[in-house]
Amino acid sequence: MPSTPTNADLFAAARSVIPGGVDSPVRAFGSVGGVPAFITGARGARVVDAEGREYVDLVGSWGPALLGHAHPEVVVAVQAAAARGLSFGAPTAAETELAEAVRRRVPPVERLRLVSTGTEATMTAVRLARGFTGRDLVVKFAGCYHGHSDGLLSAAGSGVATGGLPGSAGVPQAVAAQTLVLPYNDVSALEECFAARGKEIAAVITEPAPANMGVVPPAPGFNAAIRRVTAAYGALMIADEVLSGFRVGPAGFWGLEAVDGWAAEAAESKHAQPTPSWPGGPDGHDTSWRERAAWAPDLFTFGKVIGGGMPLAAVGGRAEVMDLLAPLGPVYQAGTLSGNPLATAAGLATLALADDAVYTTVARRAAQIGQIVSATLNEQGVPHRVQYSGSLFSIMFGPAAAAEGVRDYAAARAQEAWRFAPFFHAFLDAGVALPPSVFEAWFVSAAHGDAEVERIAAAAPAAARAAAKA
Ligand code: PMP
Repeated sequence: MPSTPTNADLFAAARSVIPGGVDSPVRAFGSVGGVPAFITGARGARVVDAEGREYVDLVGSWGPALLGHAHPEVVVAVQAAAARGLSFGAPTAAETELAEAVRRRVPPVERLRLVSTGTEATMTAVRLARGFTGRDLVVKFAGCYHGHSDGLLSAAGSGVATGGLPGSAGVPQAVAAQTLVLPYNDVSALEECFAARGKEIAAVITEPAPANMGVVPPAPGFNAAIRRVTAAYGALMIADEVLSGFRVGPAGFWGLEAVDGWAAEAAESKHAQPTPSWPGGPDGHDTSWRERAAWAPDLFTFGKVIGGGMPLAAVGGRAEVMDLLAPLGPVYQAGTLSGNPLATAAGLATLALADDAVYTTVARRAAQIGQIVSATLNEQGVPHRVQYSGSLFSIMFGPAAAAEGVRDYAAARAQEAWRFAPFFHAFLDAGVALPPSVFEAWFVSAAHGDAEVERIAAAAPAAARAAAKA
């Protein structure tokens, strides 16, 4: 290894000891080609690689970096926690504080359990739903991603979509058969599925604002329809807000759509909308959401922002369901590092800083970046549509996407995805790091300022030309 290794040197070394050279597949640049940047540090909206190149970062660690990287107050909180000890395997008061902070923002979360990854959170939510209902089947939507547990990989988004895979090898057929996959945004398919097998279905798990097949906004009323149909058959609704929770607004996508009828307008609009204020109010546990909310799931899952960049995620919801968890009830779940003090400190510090101003800034910047990139694509005659769910957005390529929008996974897969790799690399060459897949959302932070937007605007024409030529 040379004394100042390049990204290529580091990738070659990694591949000889780590499968594919990465610890999570999409990082390997499989669908865009080339060598991934090996990151040595990050601050605010910028990341730096092993060759000393600095990028405006639109990956944001795939979601957690809402405040930007290494926010000084978050770093200090983690350092202070580290000085007190890295892990105890015993309860700490900070876990209660974090659970209370979540409940203040998302009052249907009457109880919360902390875990370490989104995968664990959704896996536990599904087990709870089965334990509560005594039923086995789970419904998921094609193109939604809920982590890599056996039962949730069928027709999954994110890296499974990027790799063009139907699911995963190593999942027993008997396990896969417990998951029914439906097209997203299709109320009739949902109703027909429940009419046929409703009494066997434990839960519908959904991303209330899907962002793992690119960003596909829920059609107005779709989340409410899931709630109506599941309730009619005694099945649970699980809202997987691992990605959207605490990112698109203080109470996640639920707070935006269910409480204020926000998404119905947003779906009609090309622009990200300003976020409403807290549904539960900043103090105390408010139950008024029951009258105000158009829909509420039984269970939520959270990840990413809730851990502020540290390994932390959570499952929460109705006390009656959550209290089935061990040690109170018969549904088993555990974790050596669950509620880890460093991760809890990062999460608490992040949520304390993520006020309305942060959400307004992120939504405004996201709309601005989306509009700039879209205008340059238009100048080059590249048919496309920027799809938004709050501050989450991604670009769908092709005339069909431009004309009709993308409402489901079939349409997301039918887009002109091949335009993305040259577009991505032109941005990267100009110092702007996009998520390396057309099936991922772009992540903006509160640290993205005018300088970052200018860099993106300067890079966009070459990227648009590259997309046009592809
Ligand atoms: N659910 C959703 C909606 C996600 O976006 C992700 C990760 N991108 C997960 C679950 C899985 O989380 P993790 O990668 O932490 O296991």
